[in-house]
Amino acid sequence: MLDKSFISSIQQCVGRENVLTDKEDMICYSYDPTPNHQMPEAVVIPNNIEEISKVVKLANKAGIPITPRGGGTNICGNSIPVKGGIVLAMHHFDRVIEIDTANLCAVVQAGVITADFHRQVEALGLFYPPDPQASSMSMLGGNVATNAGGPRGFKYGVTRDYVLGFKMVLPDGRILKMGGKTVKNVTGYDLTKLFVGSEGTLGIFTELILRIIPLPESKRTMLAVFDGLLDAARTVSAVIAAKIIPTTLEFMDREAMRLIEAYVPCGLPVDAAAAILIEVDGSERDVPIQIKQVEEVCRQFGAREIRIATTEAESNQIWAGRKAAFSSMAKSAPTLYVEDVTVPRSKIPEIVKTITDLAAKYKLKIPILGHAGDGNMHPIILTDESNHDEIKRVKQAIDEMFKAALELGGTLSGEHGIGLDKVKYMEWELGETGIDVMRKIKQALDPKNIMNSNKVLPPEAVQ
Ligand SMILES: Cc1cc2nc3c(=O)[nH]c(=O)nc-3n(C[C@H](O)[C@H](O)[C@H](O)COP(=O)(O)OP(=O)(O)OC[C@H]3O[C@@H](n4cnc5c(N)ncnc54)[C@H](O)[C@@H]3O)c2cc1C
Repeated sequence: MLDKSFISSIQQCVGRENVLTDKEDMICYSYDPTPNHQMPEAVVIPNNIEEISKVVKLANKAGIPITPRGGGTNICGNSIPVKGGIVLAMHHFDRVIEIDTANLCAVVQAGVITADFHRQVEALGLFYPPDPQASSMSMLGGNVATNAGGPRGFKYGVTRDYVLGFKMVLPDGRILKMGGKTVKNVTGYDLTKLFVGSEGTLGIFTELILRIIPLPESKRTMLAVFDGLLDAARTVSAVIAAKIIPTTLEFMDREAMRLIEAYVPCGLPVDAAAAILIEVDGSERDVPIQIKQVEEVCRQFGAREIRIATTEAESNQIWAGRKAAFSSMAKSAPTLYVEDVTVPRSKIPEIVKTITDLAAKYKLKIPILGHAGDGNMHPIILTDESNHDEIKRVKQAIDEMFKAALELGGTLSGEHGIGLDKVKYMEWELGETGIDVMRKIKQALDPKNIMNSNKVLPPEAVQ
């Protein structure tokens, strides 16, 4: 329980109006899109890095837990304040400080909304590829903290590939500055890579230096429709094997398309077993060539229909369904478990089969979406948290899904991170030694375990 004198010290650091303690004001900081929730004891909304540093020093001294929060769009319970304490909300850090066209980079504050940043760089003919599908709500700091991906990851990589440097406040309140505007930097250990994806467990990002690239001249969108689920899955592997690199290879199965279509009618082929949304980009000369190559592979692997957008409106129509996917699932069931199993790309047919077999075995509805080009599948389990028998089956299915992914040479998370929900599987992938190395890093930086405790590593590992 935070005492009055502690609250008053925090108010002196950030201003009384930037400390929330009323239940009604704090409720929206107590949950995320997962079934997890926990009320914080205070929400602190700092204005600058010095204020964060002061707040963290006070919290560290008193052993008060801190949970950094961006847009709250994570899907693994990453920003739930499980131990109460302070939620540190970053929405005042909303400035794009500089877009440096000479060095192709931008300096931004951590609370800038991802889609706002996209718009600003694109207006200058530039491009910031990471595009988590909640980009209209997520913040760049949250993206860096989760190492977010998105549909364009197949061609352009994930957030980590665009982080050149940052400023952050460490769990003891000291300010750390890493990297800069140089494209090359091998000075010492690569701490930038270590902190990106640390899910708020090693400190709070306040400012980021992000690499940007020229906006591709042209892009084209297509939808390949399949009567066989595994044909669609095999097509993804075949496109990659044919050495074609589209920007996007998004997989949707029938169940997913039906739910989307019921929510946002956009012409998805609901009678088909699956469809792949494919986008290619590049020069005006190359794009038609790539489209032709992809079309040939799709036909060879059994596509019954291929829709190629000829106008921006048609392209938006194809994308509309994929963009509404999560909302349509959220509307169709009281509780969702959005999984993030990722396998080597050649193993996509196997993991798709495993997921459909598990849905049948445990009598569950599991529509499948996925950034299939990355081997990153999002089976979404539609359930109801109040149905205890069903939830038991859900948990068993998730256990088996992750076991299967690891056996196929995959990983627990391609882009959502570990948060709370996947902590129990960490040792399966990392083994005792991997956990021990991570624990030592955490203990070295946060010996009191105040920074986003109980996330990423099993609680017993960091006692
Ligand atoms: C509809 C939908 C679609 C999505 N699609 C994708 C997708 O395509 N790809 C993808 O990768 N993800 C996706 N996500 C997940 C989510 O959008 C990403 O994980 C995103 O990066 C989270 O950013 P956020 O600002 O919302 O962070 P939050 O949810 O607020 O926090 C996420 C984690 O980052 C930490 N954190 C936040 N800000 C900071 C900071 N400044 N310093 C240190 N730690 C911080 C938090 O403590 C927490 O651990 C999707 C989510 C939804 C709801």
